[in-house]
Amino acid sequence: MRIPRLLLFSLAVTPCLDAAPAAPAAAPDPAHVWDLTLLYKDQAAFDAAKAKLTADLPKLKDFQGRLGKDAATLRQAMELLTDLQGQYFRLGSYAAQASDENLRDAAAMERSQEIDMLASELSNAASFVNPELLAVGEQTITRFLAHEPGLAVYRFPIMDTLRNAPHTLGAEAESVLSSSSAITDTPSSLYGVLANADLPWPTIKLADGTEARLDQAGYTRWRSAANRADRQAVFEAFWGKMKEYERTFGVALFSQVKTDWFNARVRKYPSSLAAALSGNNVPESVYRTLLAQTNANLPTLHRYFKLRGRMLGVSDLRYWDIYPPMVQLEKKFPYELSKQLTLAAVQPLGADYIAGITESMEGRYTHVYPRPGKRSGAYSSGSVHDAHPYVLLNHNDDYESLSTLAHEWGHGMHSVLANRAQPAPLANYSIFTAEIASTCNEALLLDHMLKIAKDDDERLFYLGSALEGLRGTFFRQAMFAEFELRIHEEVEKGNALSGDALTKIYGEILRRYHGDAEGVLKIDELVTVEWAYIPHFYRNFYVFQYATSIAASQAFAAKILAHEPGAVDTYLGLLKAGGSDYPYELVKKAGVDLATPAPYQALVQRMNTIMDQIEAILAKRGK
Ligand SMILES: [Zn+2]
Repeated sequence: MRIPRLLLFSLAVTPCLDAAPAAPAAAPDPAHVWDLTLLYKDQAAFDAAKAKLTADLPKLKDFQGRLGKDAATLRQAMELLTDLQGQYFRLGSYAAQASDENLRDAAAMERSQEIDMLASELSNAASFVNPELLAVGEQTITRFLAHEPGLAVYRFPIMDTLRNAPHTLGAEAESVLSSSSAITDTPSSLYGVLANADLPWPTIKLADGTEARLDQAGYTRWRSAANRADRQAVFEAFWGKMKEYERTFGVALFSQVKTDWFNARVRKYPSSLAAALSGNNVPESVYRTLLAQTNANLPTLHRYFKLRGRMLGVSDLRYWDIYPPMVQLEKKFPYELSKQLTLAAVQPLGADYIAGITESMEGRYTHVYPRPGKRSGAYSSGSVHDAHPYVLLNHNDDYESLSTLAHEWGHGMHSVLANRAQPAPLANYSIFTAEIASTCNEALLLDHMLKIAKDDDERLFYLGSALEGLRGTFFRQAMFAEFELRIHEEVEKGNALSGDALTKIYGEILRRYHGDAEGVLKIDELVTVEWAYIPHFYRNFYVFQYATSIAASQAFAAKILAHEPGAVDTYLGLLKAGGSDYPYELVKKAGVDLATPAPYQALVQRMNTIMDQIEAILAKRGK
């Protein structure tokens, strides 16, 4: 279900694809822990701010029934809404981050949950705004906008609300729909409990005697084991267990797809896809072009698998051969070195960006190392308009950690630039553009690492890791997007989906992408239950944006690195635009049209160039 732009009471935390597991470390140096007193100087200040928001909330009611009175009243209502939203973003960011430092801290978690409850009170208090704006109507609102300069910053979000008039129902129906959200999130809760808590995960013994418990974290860790027999055993045990629960996962996902279609239909959208894309006004041609281009370019993906087989010394590639690195790199990337390398890599972006990222990485805005109880993975949090963004890492001194640092501060700098250039109502960027800023930094980092690599071994490692990134973020996410579209279309045709049916559909797509019929990589029946493991399928057409974002970022990075005149300014202009327009339009204005084949073809071309480079090194070695 779309969140109205005016009533966005969820934090813009960017959930990134890769999640490194957290682990204990030595007592932290304060320089490596973010300083949350920059948000509130102490607990008392936080409590006072929370009390203020609670006290300010009822003021919204004064505007109910008065939004159409005159332009000044509408402006005051918008200002109050923005102010309340800003108060909430600061409280919510602080509470969530404080809790993420140590998820075992019950008091911190309670504070965070209290702010979540306050957010839902805020959302309820503001729920009259959208229907009332629609009732006031476009004609009156256009007149208000023309007469009241103070309304200018609200033009885009207000017009966006009006755009949805054909899909907004009467007050009674909207109220029913709003209450139904309490039951329509059941499929994803069911998935979450089953996949994260209830499933009796298997434990296997690896070749060296290690007992490996294959829960989700264990699977992620051991699936890239160097020993091929270990990998096969990991896959057979893990997917064998998932297969036992195929029926239950099937019920959960079928219910989710039916829920999506229910929401789309009652809001008079022709399809679940149309409903999902309508939120950010992304043209359907973006989605369809992505899928068409991915399929047209499967030979490049197959070329990658064949090269991978060659480098791993495996002639009969299987699904358990896609995760181990093709080349090992012993080199360590301690945090200080990672900062230096990130800084060196973003030099092409110019003085302003360099100054911003230096301040970001040198200031106390990053929670660097794993700690007992700390949230795993990495994220950037930049919702607070008048505060510096923060980044959470679990830095492990490996190349992936370096790459994550560049990635997350890519998000962080996007927030810095947008918050500086845009007023609060227009600053927050959408997920459709978010991953451009992060993966562009990764592309710049790769270029830099290749330039300074000491030998071919190191070069091969970076090239291999870049290829793997493009496979995982482009081809794999597009494959998921194709599956998502297929299963929604089945339900829209009135067909039921059992776990078995989902496995058949997924298996067909998985085999096509991996060149099973062409003898590239054989897909065993057991792994075609993989759909059951993917949490993103409960987020309604979300994953395609990873694929479109990386296609766009490769295009921007290529222009920047080629010193194309104006390339840096155009790219930074996109970041500075924040959420001031629809994201597809912003990217298009910056010269990359994601509804056309060009950006996808450029990404594929880049994969081929990387493979040419790898093959040249291998040829030199006579391999
Ligand atoms: Zn990210």
